Amino acid sequence: MRISKNIFQTICAHLLPTACITCQEFQKFSICNECLDSLKDSALCNYQCCYQCGIALQASEVPKQKCVDCEYIEPYFDETYCLDRYEGLLQTPLHELKYQKRIAFAGALSSTWNLLIGQELEDIPADYLLPVPLSIQKLAQRGFNQSWEIAKHIRCGKHIQKSPYVLRRHHYSGHQAGSSLCNRYLAIQGMFYVEPNDIQKLKNKTVIVFDDVMTSGATLNEIARVLKDNGVSRVINWVLLRAARPI
Ligand SMILES: [Zn+2]
Ligand SMILES: [Zn+2]
Repeated sequence: MRISKNIFQTICAHLLPTACITCQEFQKFSICNECLDSLKDSALCNYQCCYQCGIALQASEVPKQKCVDCEYIEPYFDETYCLDRYEGLLQTPLHELKYQKRIAFAGALSSTWNLLIGQELEDIPADYLLPVPLSIQKLAQRGFNQSWEIAKHIRCGKHIQKSPYVLRRHHYSGHQAGSSLCNRYLAIQGMFYVEPNDIQKLKNKTVIVFDDVMTSGATLNEIARVLKDNGVSRVINWVLLRAARPI
């Protein structure tokens, strides 16, 4: 069944043109060569970034490879890898996935990730890859978790187990976007938990947390805190798009 599906997809890819997810040009792949070349030149992953939170570094921060914010208050997570800036070419395709429910864009975003940093991150030592969860209510409303839809197709070592069920999220009726940084930190407290049946298997393990967008880092920091409270030894963030440092 799987083989016939793959053959069908290969035949379709050769016979039917597809629109590039960023420029909409019809051609053969989910992202065209020009847009891919542009990302290869300008994507955030090609820049010197803080190893801990993934933000682009100022010249004075380069020697330590760490931003002043992480120097000042150490986050709970240990490393962060981001594909590109929030304002870059991939913002529109991500919005098409999240808000227009164009689910095929998830596979296209994963392929773009795989082409740009998949190989570099493939051999990273880790045990689990978990997407940032949505609450049951939010999942019912949207119909899918965009982070999981992207994460399940991204390249990683065969030893890394992917699961959308280990990390869980309570429902919060307030709206996160636009609220102040302080309010965001408060609102996110106690929001996440580990599925009780999975707590034991996380002890002393390394966990990769995948998020579609990292803004202040409050969500990922709270998740890392919860994971470490449950015995995880190391938390690594993989992020599709990273918002710039607030001015
Ligand atoms: Zn294009
Ligand atoms: Zn940092």
